[in-house]
Amino acid sequence: MGKICKICGKSRFMFSWEDICYTCKQKKDLAEMQQKIKKIKKVTLIHSQIAISFVHIVVMR
Ligand SMILES: [Zn+2]
Repeated sequence: MGKICKICGKSRFMFSWEDICYTCKQKKDLAEMQQKIKKIKKVTLIHSQIAISFVHIVVMR
């Protein structure tokens, strides 16, 4: 039941609908997860910057 992984080129067990092995899938998922976290962090950063400038405006008054 071995198939050749599209990413690492190794013959591993894979489901028929998959073309990458479990190890590569995990790495891919992890990379996607990190990308998502980066996006969330960016948005959070913008939000906190808005919050900080809002606080500045309030303090300045
Ligand atoms: Zn692989």
